[in-house]
Parts: sequence; structure tokens; C-alpha cells
Amino acid sequence: MLFDTGPESTFDNIVTALRQIGASVNDIRHVFLSHIHFDHAGAAWRFAELGATIYVHPRGAQHLIDPAKLIASAARIFGDDMQRLWGRIAPVPENRVRILEDKAIVPVAPFEIRAIATPGHASHHHVYRWEDNLFGGDIAGVRLGNGPPIPPFVPPELQIESWHESIAKIRELNPTNLYLPHFGSVKGCVAVHLDALDERVTRWSEWFREKISAGFREPDLVAAFARLEHDDLIANGATEELARDYETVDPSYMAVPGAIRYWQKYHPGEVFANNR
Ligand SMILES: [Zn+2]
Repeated sequence: MLFDTGPESTFDNIVTALRQIGASVNDIRHVFLSHIHFDHAGAAWRFAELGATIYVHPRGAQHLIDPAKLIASAARIFGDDMQRLWGRIAPVPENRVRILEDKAIVPVAPFEIRAIATPGHASHHHVYRWEDNLFGGDIAGVRLGNGPPIPPFVPPELQIESWHESIAKIRELNPTNLYLPHFGSVKGCVAVHLDALDERVTRWSEWFREKISAGFREPDLVAAFARLEHDDLIANGATEELARDYETVDPSYMAVPGAIRYWQKYHPGEVFANNR
């Protein structure tokens, strides 16, 4: 079993990592996707080609089978960088895709994998539980080295209330081990990680509410939020070098259109009241 594939551009890294544990890509029979963003699911078609079954949230399945819309919307953000970042993007044959509803259980003898719908970062997001292990996707935060966990706010589906509810669901499952696609297992207490993430979801989204309602426009927000995130990281244990790595992994500018869209769509009265 594999939880998220990464983009196709890093497929060879998985080949190498599997070889290091005495396995090969052909051994991967089940691929569980947290969501369909290319940095998580971009290589799914390669595994499907080798005969693996690809598991995904109901709202993600169509985009795996026909990625044209996803490619078009990503190209608007990433432009000429598409190939370098994601590698080749190709459809997953429909007969290799299995849709998982919330709370669905997949028996992979002798194991059982449970999907838990966890929207907030994306509407079509699952985390997966295996015994007391949880595979967190992007809803469980991005964390590098000794830095703090941060929520990857991205357009177009950012939904703050859902994000809080999803963190509460994960907290209730009380996992011993939490694995993050960006990157690795959470060292130390999972509850402490979740509390810090939850607090940052609130604080950052409130910061956006204040700035948007004060009339800040997108370019100013991009610069101001980059500073806010940088200072937050440094104040919470990151070095300058690590803060740069966070910026590479989860560029702060992505949060801005996500947050603007969220506030205008779900709470227009709050952000338009002051600058009418
Ligand atoms: Zn994502």
C-alpha cells in the first residue's frame, strides 16, 4: 500500500526508496490518495499502469479519469513550471479507480484501512487510518524539521470551518503516529501538533479577514502575508534556512487568493462591510 504518490516528476524517488526496503514499484497494489492535487496524486497513473488500484474521494475520481480541467486550473497558477514541478500528467483508467465514501473500510488482508472525509484544504480530501496510524494529507498540516505545523491555504476550495471540524475528527481518532505528506512522521505528541495547527488556522484566517475588510488588495496581501508567515515560523523555532524551505514547499502567495475567495464566498458581509 502507498499513501499518496507525489508528482510524476519524483516517481524515481519512490522507486529508489522502495528498493532500499527490498521492494519494487510492482509490489504496490493499493494507492490511497488524500486528494488529487498534483503534488499528492500526480504519479497515480504510473501505479495504475502497473496494475495498482487507486482509491479516492467521490469528488476526486472524475479528475483522475479526465485530468483536463485540473491541468487547466493548475496551469493558470504555475504556468511554464508545470512540467518541471509535476512531470507528465496522464489519465488513470476508470477501471483502476475505486471511490471511497466517508468511513469506508478497505480490507487489505491482514490490514483494514479506513477513509475519513476531511475537507478544508480541498473539498475532496480523505485521511486514512490504519490501526493507530493516521496518514494525514494536507489537512493535517505541513511541517519541516523542527519548525511548527502550518496549514496550506490554497485556492479554490479553502473552507475554514471545515478545516477546524476535520482537525477535530483527527483529534478524536487519537492516533499514536501521524504521517504528513510534507514531510514524514510527526515527532512528539500528535495532540500538541494538532493544537498548534488549529490555532494557526484561526489566527491566519482572522488576519486575512481584518486585512481584506480594511481594503487590502491582493498584491499588498501577498507581501504582507509572506512577512507574517516568515515571522511566525522564526518565532516558533525555524531558522532562516528552514523558513525558506517552508516557502518552497508551501509558497505563501498561494494562501492569498484562497483566503480572499473563502471570505468573499462564505462571509461576504464581514469583508465588504468596511470598504463599501
Ligand atoms: Zn493539496
